[in-house]
Amino acid sequence: MGLKGKAALVTGSTSGIGLAVARAFAAEGCDVMLNGLGDSGAIERLRAELAAEFGVRARYHGADMTRPAEIADLVATAEREFGRVDVLVNNAGIQHVAPVESFPVERWDAIIAINLSAAFHGVRAALPGMKARGWGRLINIASTHGLVASAQKTAYVAAKHGILGLTKAVALECADTGVTCNAICPGWVLTPLVQAQIDARAKAQGVSVDQARRALLGEKQPQLQFTKPEQIAALALFLCSDVAANMQGAQLVSDGGWTAQ
Ligand code: NAD
Repeated sequence: MGLKGKAALVTGSTSGIGLAVARAFAAEGCDVMLNGLGDSGAIERLRAELAAEFGVRARYHGADMTRPAEIADLVATAEREFGRVDVLVNNAGIQHVAPVESFPVERWDAIIAINLSAAFHGVRAALPGMKARGWGRLINIASTHGLVASAQKTAYVAAKHGILGLTKAVALECADTGVTCNAICPGWVLTPLVQAQIDARAKAQGVSVDQARRALLGEKQPQLQFTKPEQIAALALFLCSDVAANMQGAQLVSDGGWTAQ
């Protein structure tokens, strides 16, 4: 892959897809800046494990993705620590499920901030260094919900449609700079974000967690398989490879047929 000597910053990498992406980049010899919420001891163990297992520099910054100044400091810290940020994966995200009339205003604001605005703040801070070095990869983790909607997910759907728009606009601005900006649109991936929805469904419908999991998949994803976090990570690596050098503003979909219907 040739990522040795390069540095990647992955937001929301203490769990789920972001963690798999950080591991995949570290496995390719890339230095990684971790970010996300969680128990500080567990995060430090994770950081130390990545560094030891793959022989790369791994750092952690606890920037809250709702806070623009902290996001700017996250990028600046990564640039200071590694001398560069070559890959920015905007991955941090949250979900809330409720009808629009009773959707908590505070959850709307948080979802727009974390799932959409944080990517703008990250790109804004990381792009100048990438352009100066003549190479960079901006990768936004969107969703099938960037392409189609589901009821009771207004904020998430709005944010994910927004991030695809951001991806395309930034892509045009990056054309001919050596920097590309692309999005990945996963369908269901079994992470804590989705497990919470399965648990809520099981409780609401009085069914087992296993039945709720199968119903969730069956409703949207004809292939009836979750995409694995490692498969999303491999798509992010692909976007950093030479064969993807002319991909600009694209959406890579891995959704078991969800949006083919
Ligand atoms: P997850 O809950 O396992 O991980 C989310 C990460 O974001 C965690 O590291 C968490 O600490 C971090 N985070 C949350 N709020 C934050 C904040 N304020 N500041 C900093 N970090 C914060 O979820 P996941 O499923 O791995 O989701 C990762 C991304 O993938 C999200 O953008 C999500 O929308 C997207 N996605 C997930 C699925 C899926 O089925 N799991 C499908 C499509 C898209």
